[in-house]
Amino acid sequence: MTTVNAACVCPACHRRLEHHTSLEANRGPRAGDISMCGACGNILVYMEPTILRVASLHERLKLAPERLARLTRARELLKRMRKVYL
Ligand SMILES: [Zn+2]
Repeated sequence: MTTVNAACVCPACHRRLEHHTSLEANRGPRAGDISMCGACGNILVYMEPTILRVASLHERLKLAPERLARLTRARELLKRMRKVYL
């Protein structure tokens, strides 16, 4: 797992995102990579290493089932954490 500084802004909630974490070693974000905003939980797509857009329904449906399940689980955990801490 690698975490790199890649400051960008979430296009959905407009929060500044400071880091990108990848399951692959020594790899930063690349155009076309799928991500999730740690603040609002929206599924995002990197257009460039520091520019994101919200993933379309079509792009979300094209994700492999296990990957979509992991993102969905991460979003559920994020929602629970917000209820506990906010
Ligand atoms: Zn967001």
